[in-house]
Amino acid sequence: MLVEVGELCYKVGMIETEISRVILEEYNQRLLEHLENDVVIVGAGPAGLAGAYYLAKAGLKTVIIERKLSIGGGIWGGAAGYNVIALQDRDILDEFGITAKKQKGLYIADAIEFATALAYKARKAGAQIFNLMEAEDIILKTERVEGVVVNGTAIKLAGLHVDPFCIASKVVLDTTGHPAEVVNMLTKRRPQLVPEGIQESFMDVETAEAGVVEKTGEIFPGLYVAGMSVCAVYNLPRMGPIFGGMLKSGQKAAKLISQKLKSSKT
Ligand SMILES: Cc1cc2nc3c(=O)[nH]c(=O)nc-3n(C[C@H](O)[C@H](O)[C@H](O)COP(=O)(O)OP(=O)(O)OC[C@H]3O[C@@H](n4cnc5c(N)ncnc54)[C@H](O)[C@@H]3O)c2cc1C
Repeated sequence: MLVEVGELCYKVGMIETEISRVILEEYNQRLLEHLENDVVIVGAGPAGLAGAYYLAKAGLKTVIIERKLSIGGGIWGGAAGYNVIALQDRDILDEFGITAKKQKGLYIADAIEFATALAYKARKAGAQIFNLMEAEDIILKTERVEGVVVNGTAIKLAGLHVDPFCIASKVVLDTTGHPAEVVNMLTKRRPQLVPEGIQESFMDVETAEAGVVEKTGEIFPGLYVAGMSVCAVYNLPRMGPIFGGMLKSGQKAAKLISQKLKSSKT
């Protein structure tokens, strides 16, 4: 029905439902398109976003599952809530177009620019990001991780008895940060995988920054770790608010996964 108000003419009851319709149709289409993927990344912190950018850029179908409303993980707060980021070198910053200045041998960037640039570039490269969605379990077939079991964050927060759904992938990348949540899902039933338990060690920046990149890789068939999850899984030291290792770890995971998936095609 059309209603005229002065010179304006409204379609009563149309615009409201059309807004809902386009949102629902687009979201459902995106979800259906991403039920099967090359890579599922759990956690949209710096390691996950960097990994997603390089994977999508390599042409792999990549999806990120992020529990929170905001993406960026631990970036936003910099150190102790001071939203400035410190890094040792600037090569990856240049790739993401992030402005940085050199100070006392370190590169300093703005945390807000850092988080948004990583998210923008990952998204523009083709990675799909589903926020407000939580990975609660893994799909495991013949001793290989083949995807994740997910639920809505709101459902989890409310503690509702609602079944999840599944998102399949050839590879899962755990970038959940300190708790290494995806690896933890596996070690609950396979404790021998991480005999020392999931926990990072005391602060030691140089050792941690080198170790987090060195140890980034496949920890179980189909399951890779990057970022602070690596420190937790390999009991490496923590490194505090320095983010170069997170980006390099995400980049290395993407390189290893791309090589693996491309070689398995040939
Ligand atoms: C309280 C606190 C303590 C910190 N301590 C240290 C420290 O000791 N050493 C250090 O180097 N840095 C520390 N940081 C800085 C910072 O967190 C990390 O260096 C950096 O952000 C880690 O990057 P990441 O990509 O590995 O993970 P994060 O930035 O932590 O991102 C992980 C993301 O995964 C999401 N996520 C987790 N589990 C799930 C799930 N099941 N499903 C969906 N999403 C999930 C989280 O919501 C988050 O957005 C700390 C930050 C905070 C807030």
